[in-house]
Amino acid sequence: MYAPKDNANPVIPVRLDSQSPMCFSCERDLSCFTSCCHNINIFLTPADVIRLKHRLDLSSEEFLAIYTIPAIIEGTELPIPMLKPLEEDNFACPFVRKEGCIVYEDRPLNCRYYPLGSGIFHNRDESEDERFYALIKEPTCLGHDLGEEKTVQDWVEGQGIEVYDEINSGWVELILRRKSLGPFVELPEKTLQMFFMVCYNLDSFRRFIFNSRFLSVYIVDTETQEKIRDDDVALLSFGMSWLKSTFFGEEKMTLRKETTSSVE
Ligand code: SF4
Ligand code: SF4
Repeated sequence: MYAPKDNANPVIPVRLDSQSPMCFSCERDLSCFTSCCHNINIFLTPADVIRLKHRLDLSSEEFLAIYTIPAIIEGTELPIPMLKPLEEDNFACPFVRKEGCIVYEDRPLNCRYYPLGSGIFHNRDESEDERFYALIKEPTCLGHDLGEEKTVQDWVEGQGIEVYDEINSGWVELILRRKSLGPFVELPEKTLQMFFMVCYNLDSFRRFIFNSRFLSVYIVDTETQEKIRDDDVALLSFGMSWLKSTFFGEEKMTLRKETTSSVE
């Protein structure tokens, strides 16, 4: 989901697997330092929003309103927030400064992967999805062929990517399943709004659960209620189960007998 904006000169990515060798080192004294934080589209995953809103001590609504603009996940109509670039500064990321990234420890997944891109191939005949990688060799990035050779897997581990992938796993599954339905199935606007709230606006989802009829429609045990009251990762995981039951009719949630599934 890293998307350089230079549509006139597209970079052809080189496909890699987890054991492919790569040689890359991003160094502060390179003349390209922070150039990769300008003129790009950084799409945010649910894990990115959780990390950044905590880092900036903002609610999810505040974070989304101040730092993002709406976008669409390619090949679907599903919404995704994108970091709002600063037009007046060559479309810079709002977190880049002369000294580097001011949210580095909590930088988004796309920034962690770079210069790799990553994708998942959903094969209906296989039980496991296949993850693949692509090396993006932009001429403006001078970090290629510097440093020690490592495998793609070493790079992924060194960038702290696994914890993000784990948090995002339910979201990725939903996107792949939506894509597999094909372009002729249209999701209603309300469903798309629900998807956005659960995936990215967790504080709003939390209020929806505790301040609407949600808990009189669905049975949610006390332990789960306590967990999702404060823990965003637990709330996201709970939300994924709810979306799967709503989107695909999976029996992930139990309805109270005397109610219908409408929470309005
Ligand atoms: S080496 Fe590449 S990733 Fe590092 S600052 Fe330069 S352009 Fe960005
Ligand atoms: S979040 Fe940090 S690393 Fe990512 S584009 Fe912005 S400044 Fe660069």
